[in-house]
Formats: sequence, structure tokens, C-alpha cells
Amino acid sequence: MNCRKLPKVFSEIDSAHWSQKLPIQENYFYFHAIKIRSMKKLLVLIFLFPVFSVFAQEKEILSKLDAKADFYGDLARQIWSNPELGYLEKNSSQLLQKTLSDAGFKVTAGVANIPTAFVAEYGSGKPVIGIMAEFDALPGVSQEAVSFRKPVVVGGAGHACGHHLFGAASVAAGISVMDWMKANKIKGTVRVYGTPAEEGGGGKVYMARAGLIQDVDAMLHWHPSSQNAAGATSSLANISTKFRFYGEASHAAAAPERGKSALDAVEAMNFMVNLMREHVPMQTRMHYVITRGGEAPNVVPAFAESYHYVRHPDALVVQQIFDRMVKAAEGAALGTQTRMEYEVINGVYNLLPNETLARIMHKNLEKIGGVTYSPEEKKFAEEIIKTYPEGVKASPEDATKIAPFVVSEEGGGGSTDVGDISWLVPTVGLGTATWVPGTSAHTWQAVAAGGMSIGQKGMMVAAKTLTLTAMDIFTNPAVTGQALQELNTRRGEGFSYKALVGNREAPLDYRK
Ligand SMILES: [Zn+2]
Ligand SMILES: [Zn+2]
Repeated sequence: MNCRKLPKVFSEIDSAHWSQKLPIQENYFYFHAIKIRSMKKLLVLIFLFPVFSVFAQEKEILSKLDAKADFYGDLARQIWSNPELGYLEKNSSQLLQKTLSDAGFKVTAGVANIPTAFVAEYGSGKPVIGIMAEFDALPGVSQEAVSFRKPVVVGGAGHACGHHLFGAASVAAGISVMDWMKANKIKGTVRVYGTPAEEGGGGKVYMARAGLIQDVDAMLHWHPSSQNAAGATSSLANISTKFRFYGEASHAAAAPERGKSALDAVEAMNFMVNLMREHVPMQTRMHYVITRGGEAPNVVPAFAESYHYVRHPDALVVQQIFDRMVKAAEGAALGTQTRMEYEVINGVYNLLPNETLARIMHKNLEKIGGVTYSPEEKKFAEEIIKTYPEGVKASPEDATKIAPFVVSEEGGGGSTDVGDISWLVPTVGLGTATWVPGTSAHTWQAVAAGGMSIGQKGMMVAAKTLTLTAMDIFTNPAVTGQALQELNTRRGEGFSYKALVGNREAPLDYRK
């Protein structure tokens, strides 16, 4: 605690006591009356002192972050300019690691047998607060930071999920929490987890399985978004799998009877999966692409592959539907006289909300406030909004708003490997308006806004909210106990974590 700035009122009370010139008897009672009143004031001041002190510390740490906004903006921009796909994020990971180690973190790279995964740590002992940082890009969404469609490289990768901002803001938060701990002699540990390949590669699952997070008392994360929100909400559990069929090639016109079509097997499997849609629980999502379907129409395809996702708010339901999908693949292979192999590429749990931590996060997000545009940014936003499909209603002013607090285990639309983390340690996250209101993730509009000042402003809202939330958890020891109790209640008795990816190693080549 910083004691240098004692409130002025303390010295005023003391001088008021002794300056009274009253007869002895009166002075005695007067003195005691004063004493009681002063005691009350003193108690109020003792009670308020930590509030003043925390307020001063918050103000100082937030203005430091403001002063470094361009530095962290440049860091994000460097990652944005060189978008790297899952498990191939060599430069992005190194940039974040270097920023952390230059600031005083001890960085361990290549954890969980993943070259681009890292853990950066400052401090020692409990509590341990983790902040997660992502940095992988998406294929095919290359885009310049302009308000109309213009790829930098046609068909190239782009940061359409804003993970360049995610990484940079989490690093900014980690460093500012460390600065605050140093200045105020705070006990405990802050860690930044560099978590690769969120987009389908499940980096966090392997980091969790390697035991890297088990002593964490609270794990913080955030995600770029088109709005500012910090609620206790969930996501969908997901298993993604590549089904591979091996047949026999032959001339499709001269000797079709000698061929065994792997593409037929893919089509038969997908037909059965599409029939299954009628007989799965509500809220199930199944989608696929055919990644290999043969080379030429006049050659019976000897190899074909389809890539399936199955999602539901409950990981157990996902596992059951996945087992039925495997049966469909086996049936397809049997009927087409082909051979089938499958590889689970990724499997993630649904996000388990933690209301205890989310309320703290929401309070801090409200304190920081949303994103206010300059006239140029407003113009950019208006132009982006014009490119939305008909019916999407949005206004640049929405970026200033904070969504109301919501508690829900419904699942939302997407999946994240944060899900596994949230079943293991108390976890909390937020979204900030790094994209123009109304923008969907994985679009060129997201890449565009994420590469200019709107992205930087939204990212700093996240860095500040994460910082204040970590400070709150460090200074209120009861919070971690309550958060853990909530986690245990939500998980239910007898829960034991089993990764949905099974025993496989991280699919380091899934984007190659
Ligand atoms: Zn994404
Ligand atoms: Zn994402």
C-alpha cells in the first residue's frame, strides 16, 4: 500500500484537539466529546484510506497504460502486418515474448511441445493470476486497413479474429500489473500465457493437459468484438475431425467397375450426417467442408477427405453425436468398399462462466468505458456499416456503450479453447469494441478495423479492464476462494477433466 500521500484531514483533527482553551472541567467533557467525534472521523478515514489509496494507484497505472498506447498499438500492428496461421506464429510469438522479457518477465518458450507456446511469469507464491494472449491469424481473409474490400495478398491470411490485438493487450495488461506489483510490494504471481492456434488448433488444451495452469487462482482473457461486454456467458463445446477415405483409382469411363470411389464414401457419409440433423438435440450445430474430393472427373478418386465440426453447449452431447458421426463414416466405407481413417483435429469444452469474477470484470469495464471515435474514425465506421448485409442495424455510437451484465450457460454461437481452461481454473473474460459495431468476426471488415486506430482503442479498453480486474483480485484475498467454490459447484461433484482431443499431440501441421 502506498502511504506517502496521507490525507490532509489527519493533521487538522490533531490541531483542533489541542487548540481549545476551556476551563478544566468543561475542557475534560469537551475533550471527550471531541475525542468521540474525532474517533468516528478517524474510523471513517481508516475505512476510507484504502479506497483513496487504491484510487490513486488505479489512476497512476491507467495513465501509464495511456502513455504506452502507441507502443502497444505498434506491437499489435506488427503482428497484424505479418499474419501467421496456427502453430506457425513464430514471429508473432517472439515479438510478444521479447516485449515481456524486456519488461522483466521470466519467459519459458516452447512449452507443451509447441514451439510457439510460452509462459511469462513475474513474482512468486499465491495468488497466481494468469492472463491469456492469442496471436494466430486466419487463412483467406487478407485485407488492408481500409473501409472497402481490398486484400493485401489475394487469398492470403489476415487477422479476422483480432488475435494480434488479443496478444498485444494481454501483454500490456501483464506488464502493467507487474509494474503495479513492484511499486506497491504486492505478493503473488502474474503470468502471461502465450496460447497459439486458437483457430482450430486448440493450443490451450495441450497447455492445460501439460499441467501449466493447475496452480492458477484466476485466469483472465478477452476477445476482440464489435461491442463492449463482460458477462458470465458460455460458448459451444466442439469436436472437429478429418474423415479420410481410401479407394481404388481407375478410368471413370473405360473401367468404372474396377474403381472404388473415395468421393462416393465422403458423399455417403455426409448424406447420413445430414439425415442425422433431424435426430440430434436442439442447439446442435454440424458443419463440414470437403477438403479433398479427387483430382479429375475421369479418374475414380482414390482418396477423399471431409472435415466435420459438431457443436453443442454440453461437451457430453458433443461426444455422443461425434460417436454417431464415426458410425456414419464406417457405414459409408462399408457401402463403398473403401477404407476409412479419422483424425480428431480439435476438441474443446464449452465455457464455464464464473459470475464471481465476471461481476468484478463488468464493474471495471464500466469504470473504463467504451470506445469513442474521432471524426475520421466515425467516417470509417459509417463506410464499413454500409457494407453490411441488409437488415444489420448498427451505429458508430454503439462503440461507446457497455452491454448489460448477463449470466447465461446457453452457449452463444462459437467455440473457444478457453473452454477447457474454464473447467480447470476460475476463468473470466470480456469483449471490447475493436471492430466497428455490427461487424462479425472472421470478416474482412474485422481485419480492416483491427489494423487501424479503432482496433488500438478497443484493445486498450481491454488492457485497462484486465489490469484493474487483476488488481482487484490481488487485493481482495476472499475473491479467489469464492471463485473456486463457484467453479466446483458449476462443475458438479466428481468432475474429472478428460481432454476431448484424447491423447494426441498438438496438430502442429494442421495449417500446412
Ligand atoms: Zn475466431
Ligand atoms: Zn478469436
